[in-house]
Amino acid sequence: MEKIKMADLHTQYLRIKPEIDDAIQQVLTSTAFIQGPEVNAFAQALGTYVDVNHVITCGNGTDALQIAMMALELQPGDEVILPVHTYVATAEVIALLGLVPVFIDVFADSFNLDVTQLESKITPKTKAIVPVHLYGQCADMEPLLAIANRHKLYVIEDTAQALGAEYTFSNGTRKKAGTMGIIGTTSFFPSKNLGCFGDGGAIFTNDTVLAEKLKMTANHGQRIKYHHDIIGINSRLDTLQAAILQVKLKYLDDYARRRNDAAAYYDLALAGIAGVKIPHRSGNSTHVFHQYTLTVERRDDLKKELEAAGIPTMIYYPVPLHFQKAYARKSFGEGSFPVTESLSKTVISIPIHTEMKPEQLAFISETIKTFYTT
Ligand SMILES: *Cc1c(COP(=O)(O)O)cnc(C)c1O
Repeated sequence: MEKIKMADLHTQYLRIKPEIDDAIQQVLTSTAFIQGPEVNAFAQALGTYVDVNHVITCGNGTDALQIAMMALELQPGDEVILPVHTYVATAEVIALLGLVPVFIDVFADSFNLDVTQLESKITPKTKAIVPVHLYGQCADMEPLLAIANRHKLYVIEDTAQALGAEYTFSNGTRKKAGTMGIIGTTSFFPSKNLGCFGDGGAIFTNDTVLAEKLKMTANHGQRIKYHHDIIGINSRLDTLQAAILQVKLKYLDDYARRRNDAAAYYDLALAGIAGVKIPHRSGNSTHVFHQYTLTVERRDDLKKELEAAGIPTMIYYPVPLHFQKAYARKSFGEGSFPVTESLSKTVISIPIHTEMKPEQLAFISETIKTFYTT
């Protein structure tokens, strides 16, 4: 059996190597390394894919969040609500801009922001909510958007883990992750569902005025070269990465299907094992399985057992943000965010990617089953 990996970017590349190599060669020949035509072409194609009017590409998913908050002109002291069970980037840019991150706990089953607690976190200083579509499934957007509208708050969707996931509203309208709030952000980090060969990111909006502002913010605050109307940053998607992403975007739905096939196998093989909870499927969102995350008993022992068997795993995330030195506050103690604290001790993500082999899925499932039943 082939060595099991958390992500198999090499095999994924080999399957489309001629196309990718051609795309790279074309950029090398043109030498338009910065803002070459592939950048705009990819942005257009991605906009069509997620069905949004404007896509602004940038350097990475963290920059995308920062650019979003800068373009919305959030001011120091403004409060931004975000789930405490997320990657640090979400909180980091908030803090970096002098805004106040206001953490909220998540649902134990979906791992996404607990919308029932949302209103209790809103104060006169609250300006925005940043739902994170964690592990590949949309947060509860319909109630979240209703609350945001009622309180006139911006919604910035962190779609780094869920590009391609689709949410269905109660009236039947379907929207892709990242296109429901005023702004959506995403990342093309190599192991993300649409990964490039380095760093990359993008921002979505349907608002034409805001799109212009986002574009300027990502480009030194200029609309016309050397005329800086606002303070911006330098955050660009390289032409080489855009060329690669243009090719890979065509396969994104196939990638999601492959991830779903693996998830379906795990669901069936792992359901009903005492001590193991398979990931919950939301009724109103598709899942693109950036991660396949179990909630288990004796997590650390299981992790060791799997490692010994040659099965890599990851813990997303082992230390909740409110216990991180950089984000800790006196008021945060044990039990401040009980669900997240519990998840940090019980979640384990097992290998899922576009190249999983049937024998690997069987071996991983069997090893987990054996751990809990013998
Ligand atoms: C990966 C990720 C980011 C950051 O993306 P980078 O491209 O690595 O900067 C932000 N938020 C979430 C939830 C992520 O998973």
